[in-house]
Amino acid sequence: MSDAANAANAAPSTTAYEHVIGLEIHVQLKTRAKVFAPAPYLYGGTDVVKDPKAVAPNTLIDPVVLALPGALPVLNRAALEQSVRFGLLTKAQIPAVCAWDRKNYFYPDSPKNYQLTQKDRPVTLGGEVEIELAGPARNIMGEHKVIRLNHAHLEEDVGKLTHAGSGSLVDYNRAGAALLEIVTEPDLRSSAEAAALLDALRMLLVAAGIADCDMEKGQMRCDANVSIRKRGETVLNTRTEMKNLNSISGVKNAIEYEAARQIREVEAGRTIRQETRGWNAETGRTYPLRGKEDAHDYRYFPDPDLMPVKVSEEDVSRLAATLPERPFDRQRRYIEQYKLPFTVTSVFVPDRPLCEYFEAALAAAPTANPQSVANLVANELLGALAAATAAEMTWPPPVAPAQLAALAQLADSGAISKQQAREVFAEMFATGKGAAAIVDAKGLRQNSDTGEIEDIIRSVLAQPASGSAVAEFKSGNEKALNSLKGPIMKASKGKANPKLVDEILRQLISAA
Ligand code: ADP
Ligand code: MG
Repeated sequence: MSDAANAANAAPSTTAYEHVIGLEIHVQLKTRAKVFAPAPYLYGGTDVVKDPKAVAPNTLIDPVVLALPGALPVLNRAALEQSVRFGLLTKAQIPAVCAWDRKNYFYPDSPKNYQLTQKDRPVTLGGEVEIELAGPARNIMGEHKVIRLNHAHLEEDVGKLTHAGSGSLVDYNRAGAALLEIVTEPDLRSSAEAAALLDALRMLLVAAGIADCDMEKGQMRCDANVSIRKRGETVLNTRTEMKNLNSISGVKNAIEYEAARQIREVEAGRTIRQETRGWNAETGRTYPLRGKEDAHDYRYFPDPDLMPVKVSEEDVSRLAATLPERPFDRQRRYIEQYKLPFTVTSVFVPDRPLCEYFEAALAAAPTANPQSVANLVANELLGALAAATAAEMTWPPPVAPAQLAALAQLADSGAISKQQAREVFAEMFATGKGAAAIVDAKGLRQNSDTGEIEDIIRSVLAQPASGSAVAEFKSGNEKALNSLKGPIMKASKGKANPKLVDEILRQLISAA
């Protein structure tokens, strides 16, 4: 048999296939009230409800949420604005008008028997999200890739059912919460890319204050659409959709399992059925829920109670002005402009208040060395915050950015040592006092006056006892220098800058 025939007969291995994945991500927006009703939700001011599980069932409700007769929905402006901000952050198009449709179905998680959603006129169209692939090698950013978005639409969340014994319990606290559904193009090629997309989305949304994206609290949930194809092909083959994956590991494992299952099916000569599948985290398998033939007919139609909404160019530019720098853009800037190590940027960048603190410190002291400031923030400030008790955990921290920069400058100028800088920081954090005030009060300031130091060294060298140490040093014994430094530091009351002492001492001996 020829080699070519051999190759054709060999069973193609699983590596002959690539995975094609598109995600539909549901994100609860950070709004005080629900999307079409005044009932409070998870995010608020003083009445903040941090954990929905801590709230009694069916308390975050009102007549609109419960669809009592005569109750009418009114769009929550904040929910729309957060959706537009998301669109701008992802470089999406913001259509001039968006509108809501009824998605009709009968299930007790919806008191209305329909869900308000946007089918044909979503709030954002297109757009893209930058993701970071394979963990960064050494000290540089990892490989980056851009994933296209199809659109994002603003809809309402549904209630929660708990099936217990012979009956089911229903809780409408979540019903009507503002939910943004973000739909990607099928641009993802592995479960790792899907996880990276969720990470990148979370960073963007958290940085902009649009959502908290805590998957454990159900604030971010994901459906994964998966198909396979031979490498090099561009066709989109029949896909299956895995519903309601609620952890990153769930998303990854479900995709891995499902792609492998599809490859096995195709290799065995069977065809893939378009279907919705569930994910069982316990067995690590996906299982069929419903096929295309028993797919719901939702009988969508425009909601007659909600007018289409205009988003003006003025609104768009006003909202654009409220956006933060995108996290990966900021990270690149920190690495290029400030020469910060990657490890430090990856601590800073997911934490916008920390980035703003760091930048405020640099703005207060433009001549400070950014790396020294960053080190104090990453080591001392974060260390102190981590060690603080919950009661002391305040933001902004007791050390003002300008004071942290002042401390960095004191250390860089040699006025105090690095070790002393750490001690001064601890005191700044405990007392809120300024860097210079603490250094002065403790008499820590090093003497960096070269003239004074030179005088002291000369007087020590002039002492007869120094003669043998000088001779030993000159004959090559480096350590002999230390026996001279002792009396010099003593004569300076411990304040002479040790680096200068070393330099000047060597100069004077070699000049003698
Ligand atoms: P529907 O209208 O049925 O919801 P869409 O075309 O809007 O389907 O796609 C829904 C999701 O499925 C999107 O995230 C999209 O990227 C993804 N998707 C579509 N076709 C495929 C495919 N062949 N393989 C994998 N994912 C796909
Ligand atoms: Mg869909």
